[in-house]
Amino acid sequence: MERRQIVVVGGGLAGTATALGLAAAGFDTLLAAPQAPDDKRSSAILGRSLAFLADHGVLDALGEAKAPLAVMRIVDDLGRLFRAPTVEFRASEIGLSAFGINALNEDIGNALKHCISAESNLEVRPAAAVGLTLDEARAVVTLDDGSEIGADLVVAADGRRSPMREAAGISSRQWRYPQTALVLNFEHTRDHASVSTEFHTRTGPFTQVPLPGRRSSLVWVEDPKLAELYVDLKPDKLSSTIAEKLHWILGDVALDGPIARYPLGGSRVERLTSTRLALVGEAAHAFPPIGAQGLNLGLRDAEALVRLVSQTRDDPGSRLTLSRYEAARRSDVVSRMAGVDLLNRSLLMEFLPSQLARTGTLAAMGLLGPLRHFAMREGLVPGAGLVGLPRSVKKWMGGHEPGREAGEEQRHRRD
Ligand SMILES: Cc1cc2nc3c(=O)[nH]c(=O)nc-3n(C[C@H](O)[C@H](O)[C@H](O)COP(=O)(O)OP(=O)(O)OC[C@H]3O[C@@H](n4cnc5c(N)ncnc54)[C@H](O)[C@@H]3O)c2cc1C
Repeated sequence: MERRQIVVVGGGLAGTATALGLAAAGFDTLLAAPQAPDDKRSSAILGRSLAFLADHGVLDALGEAKAPLAVMRIVDDLGRLFRAPTVEFRASEIGLSAFGINALNEDIGNALKHCISAESNLEVRPAAAVGLTLDEARAVVTLDDGSEIGADLVVAADGRRSPMREAAGISSRQWRYPQTALVLNFEHTRDHASVSTEFHTRTGPFTQVPLPGRRSSLVWVEDPKLAELYVDLKPDKLSSTIAEKLHWILGDVALDGPIARYPLGGSRVERLTSTRLALVGEAAHAFPPIGAQGLNLGLRDAEALVRLVSQTRDDPGSRLTLSRYEAARRSDVVSRMAGVDLLNRSLLMEFLPSQLARTGTLAAMGLLGPLRHFAMREGLVPGAGLVGLPRSVKKWMGGHEPGREAGEEQRHRRD
């Protein structure tokens, strides 16, 4: 039997980032990663997640393939009796030039691959895990190439259905929403100026996120039947429909590439660890794409796990380390899942009190600077709402005196 300190199962973005972090921290790591399907989505990576990737060279490896996110705007497009005011969250208000970046998942994956290729502690094996046994002494993972690997710790980063989570006996609750996300990229005639706009509609959010140049990605959450009708539209008609739904803020629109569909669902797990096993990414939590939370939560799992196993180097899968991981991640995971679920359901509900509560919260955010600043800091780094952002995070996000924005910062540097 082969032996490794850590086996990471699943080569999605969360698993690959975790394997990179663990290998860079000096752990002898194997990443079991069968060929992943094509992924045309983009991910907005913010705050602590961005700092984690940047510390491991992924931001540099992305080069020009990323766009800064300086402003995040929420527009009430529900057409209901009580309309919330438009709220803008500006990075400059909390002394940053950007909240983070947006990039295509394909480019983030390639940047991660580039970084792991330089890691001597990491072996990537293009094989799926088909068996798992866990006991106090060690874990054993069986791969579909016939190999068996004994390890101190198994990291299950094998997605929302997570065969490793099931094999470990961790129960989960899965549910579906009456929504499909259409995902596509498009070119536009007006500059996006590093602004992402999330329109809240009666079927869910309709979110434009900047890509480099005059390009953006779109996550369009729709009723599943309507989504099928939109997908069947001719490209010209679909482009003009999108421009109209964006209220022409980006001028004319032209589709750039295929449209992908994601039926929306959620998954909640009973616990994040088992004997010699930790869950990371969508194996640990899944919810709708609102406010760019999913991968960010997965990268914060990765960051916490790397930090905690580094504190008990002799046995990275010890009970102590895993109980610390469970404690460190539980409240972030539970609070983000609850927040996203509540916001998503509040868009779908016709119930007047819930509409009023949503409108009131957004209005208060728009009016009260300190509340807005708290929400921005908390969104970037859990726990930083009151105490402020740590320097380790600020350094990657262009920390500067409040009031100056990404474009102004660049002009200032040129001057
Ligand atoms: C439409 C949409 C838009 C989104 N936008 C954002 C965003 O802007 N920002 C953000 O933070 N998040 C976003 N998310 C969420 C984000 O995309 C996911 O959280 C993230 O991609 C999950 O990554 P993962 O590595 O945990 O899981 P996955 O990407 O599902 O990867 C799991 C991997 O495990 C592999 N695997 C499965 N079984 C096995 C096995 N037995 N052995 C070995 N490998 C196995 C699979 O092949 C796969 O490669 C979005 C989600 C959706 C649906």
